[in-house]
Amino acid sequence: MEEVDCVVIGAGVVGLAVARALALRGRETLILEAEGAIGTGMSSRNSEVIHAGIYYPPGSAKATLCVAGRQRLYAYCEARGVEHRRCGKLIVAADREQIQALDQIEATARANGVDDLRRLTGAEAAAMEPAVRGVAALFSPSTGIVDSHGLMLALRGDLEHAGGVIACNSPVRRGRCDRGAIELEVGAEETIELAARVVINSAGLQAQALSRRIAGIPERSVPPTLYAKGNYYVLQGKAPFKHLVYPVPEPGGLGVHLTLDLAGQAKFGPDVEWVEKLDYTVDPARSERFYRAIRRYWPALPDGALRPGYAGIRPKLSGPGAPAADFLIQGAEAHGVRGLINLYGIESPGMTAALAIAERVADGVAAGR
Ligand SMILES: Cc1cc2nc3c(=O)[nH]c(=O)nc-3n(C[C@H](O)[C@H](O)[C@H](O)COP(=O)(O)OP(=O)(O)OC[C@H]3O[C@@H](n4cnc5c(N)ncnc54)[C@H](O)[C@@H]3O)c2cc1C
Repeated sequence: MEEVDCVVIGAGVVGLAVARALALRGRETLILEAEGAIGTGMSSRNSEVIHAGIYYPPGSAKATLCVAGRQRLYAYCEARGVEHRRCGKLIVAADREQIQALDQIEATARANGVDDLRRLTGAEAAAMEPAVRGVAALFSPSTGIVDSHGLMLALRGDLEHAGGVIACNSPVRRGRCDRGAIELEVGAEETIELAARVVINSAGLQAQALSRRIAGIPERSVPPTLYAKGNYYVLQGKAPFKHLVYPVPEPGGLGVHLTLDLAGQAKFGPDVEWVEKLDYTVDPARSERFYRAIRRYWPALPDGALRPGYAGIRPKLSGPGAPAADFLIQGAEAHGVRGLINLYGIESPGMTAALAIAERVADGVAAGR
């Protein structure tokens, strides 16, 4: 059986950031990725927004890691030449009833250390974005967009430069951790066995399923798996917007918002559709809901302007109607296996937080958790 110091399972943006952090600290690091390329999971099916850290409960992992991760991410993009834009975003109250929600968002953001939000009247918001209608808004100058693929390639470059290795087409089938080292069976057809001192389960949507196939991880420590699909529609033609535009959030997500990519293409989404299976088709029948939601803040959206785009799926740890769950970065104190860290529920703002999650995980590894 081959022996490795650290194995990271999954080469999404979080797995890559964690592996990079371990390799930069001098650890021998191998990423095992099931697919033929890096970043084909959630990391290429998201809004590509660099979140400021506005919405999450103060003190939560989402809040602290988003704020710290955002600062690291901007600095990293500058240093490594990853394409990004600090374009800013508006959060728009469509009517008087939403003012209280806007107040709450502002208070939460301040408690999270997001101290650059500006309160705008409807007229001030319309001066910034003439197509937008609302009675009031918040402007977040530190929200931005990033080329997620460029980011992952930069992380991969750093990892490999520090001596780390990525093995694609290498699904982890099962494992055991009841004999000292953590043993993994790897491969689709032909399998090999590896023994690792440290394993980071960064398998995204599959993290819980994978844990259940590793003997020695107590079932009670594995949280439920719930999937909330987010569909996107793209706008045909040129977008009359310079900033991202968000409504007041809806349960399960941030509301059908407008994001721009770096080429200026506008897309709207993601909505929230609770699903059982990983199916990424976008149902054209959902378009009516999109028109309705978008016209609350952009009444002039022309008929026929939207086309089904793509979908992503969020790994949720709490179901419809329940309060949003936090990221779960789970070490031996929860499951009893030294050297194993499971990353569960790394939904949005996971891409923004990736570099901060990576430091937290690498600190945990260094402390022998
Ligand atoms: C609709 C949507 C919108 C979002 N918008 C944003 C946003 O605007 N800003 C933001 O900051 N975040 C956003 N996020 C969150 C962000 O995309 C994720 O937090 C981040 O991509 C998670 O990265 P990951 O590496 O954990 O997971 P993934 O990118 O899913 O990577 C997991 C990897 O594990 C691999 N894998 C699975 N099982 C195995 C196995 N057994 N063996 C080996 N490999 C395996 C998979 O193939 C995959 O490559 C959004 C998420 C969604 C779904």
